[in-house]
Amino acid sequence: MMFYPQVGLSSPSRLYGSVSPATTKLFIDGKFVESKTDKWIDVHNPATNEIVTRVPEATRDEMETAAESCKKAYETWSKTTVLTRQQVMFNLQNLIKTNLKDIAKNITLEQGKTIVDAEGDVTRGLQVVEHCCSITSLQLGETMPGIAKDMDTMSFRVPLGVTAGITPFNFPAMIPLWMFPTALVCGNTMIMKPSERDPGACMMLVEMAKEAGLPDGTLNVIHGRHDSVNFICDHPAIKAISFVGSDQAGSYIYERGSKNGKRVQSNMGAKNHGVIMPDANKENTLNQLIGAAFGAAGQRCMALSTAIFVGEAKEWIPELIEKAKKLKVNAGNEPDADIGPLISPESKNRVCELVQSGVDEGAQLLLDGRDITVKGYEQGNFVGPTVLHYVKPEMKCYTEEIFGPVLVSMEVETLDDAINMINANPYGNGTAIFTNNGATARKFTMDTDVGQVGVNVPIPVPLPMFSFTGSRGSFKGDQNFYGKAGVNFYTQLKTVTQMWRSDDADLSSKASPYAMPIMK
Ligand code: NAD
Repeated sequence: MMFYPQVGLSSPSRLYGSVSPATTKLFIDGKFVESKTDKWIDVHNPATNEIVTRVPEATRDEMETAAESCKKAYETWSKTTVLTRQQVMFNLQNLIKTNLKDIAKNITLEQGKTIVDAEGDVTRGLQVVEHCCSITSLQLGETMPGIAKDMDTMSFRVPLGVTAGITPFNFPAMIPLWMFPTALVCGNTMIMKPSERDPGACMMLVEMAKEAGLPDGTLNVIHGRHDSVNFICDHPAIKAISFVGSDQAGSYIYERGSKNGKRVQSNMGAKNHGVIMPDANKENTLNQLIGAAFGAAGQRCMALSTAIFVGEAKEWIPELIEKAKKLKVNAGNEPDADIGPLISPESKNRVCELVQSGVDEGAQLLLDGRDITVKGYEQGNFVGPTVLHYVKPEMKCYTEEIFGPVLVSMEVETLDDAINMINANPYGNGTAIFTNNGATARKFTMDTDVGQVGVNVPIPVPLPMFSFTGSRGSFKGDQNFYGKAGVNFYTQLKTVTQMWRSDDADLSSKASPYAMPIMK
């Protein structure tokens, strides 16, 4: 059985018991260590608001030790063979598969989502690890023999050095797995700073990475908020930063990290539109829309949070409301739960205020989930499915990302109106159209200025043979997460031109060594 030192428990099944909360450890130089900090952040079970663990804000000394450990480990890890690194990925994917349900339980405990959704969170991350197993192809360079007489050129994809990952709360397993496996399999080392709101899944994954054969120091974990983020942005040994989270933090980290000469990839907020054409399959469309709007309590960057009904499709709205009403709101560990709680009471207040702002600005509240009590979990941060209709682009509930189980909905006359609405929105993370007409679908995919498009697919998150390609206001940087782009992000090109000649006489070239060499 695995031991889970970050929560101090030998079995995740005890996580739901009444043991006093243990502290989450730092992971430095291959060891789980108790922080010496005097600043702690409480992590609550969102379904009960009971404290489940306390997370340290790592001290400056601890963060320096983590960076030094990564720096030192890089000297040897970067020189291991690609086959050695590949083997670690094979072992890691096996360990994650074996422990998938335990990781999911921890996610439900700390983040709140339903168990089945938490298992999906782990699985989508696992797929990145599986893709990393093909690093022997992914990290191939290029060669061109005979670029001049007896001269060949080849390019290698070499690692960068120490890298860092900063993650959000909403996918506690998947997003750390977007980062450290790819960084490490390319030969880098990494400092992870998981979300201080639910670091448990990341700590379990790190423990599995160690068991998979990752040498001490290659992966270190620090915890905290602003100080740890500033440390990462400023530390000279850190060459690249991967960030996923809100606009505010993402823009700040992109600017501060870039100013310090680091590569930064920053995935940020979203407002994703689902366009419902009257020729779509009604039943399938409404089911998909409901799952994508309310699943994970709307706390997905790819949630379809805005529905645009085109023409006659608006007649389906009453049926949508009836279906949404049937969703079961409950604690994520309850087997009948469709929608779990929001991450915090503050988050619940924010969502409720945004719903109220919509009402105050003239939207019609067709379904109100704000006043919900869940039996047995009266202290939880629950909001039921909520639908605001006749929303206008200038309303706050449209201009802000709600990140809750709230669908804002609007009616337009034509497909062009819908496309214009989407393109006028600053975000470009994802969008989807529901239609049975190929020409309509093609026009939509070509004319929308959004990085990820679904056709009859509500949450088009690409598998790792592709990359996660949010665009415009949802992304800063130029290399996306995972897939080929992820490998490009964590590597740099080194190009070698070499000449080997067997006849020494030929080496005394007649060309002037002072002129720019032109290769003939
Ligand atoms: P968040 O920005 O609050 O936190 C993300 C990370 O940044 C955390 O590790 C946190 O400690 C740190 N952080 C928070 N505020 C900071 C600040 N002011 N300065 C420096 N660092 C700070 O995000 P969250 O609430 O955990 O996650 C939800 C957000 O993430 C949503 O906006 C969602 O759309 C976005 N998200 C985007 C994607 C994507 O791929 N585009 C995926 C998941 C989540």
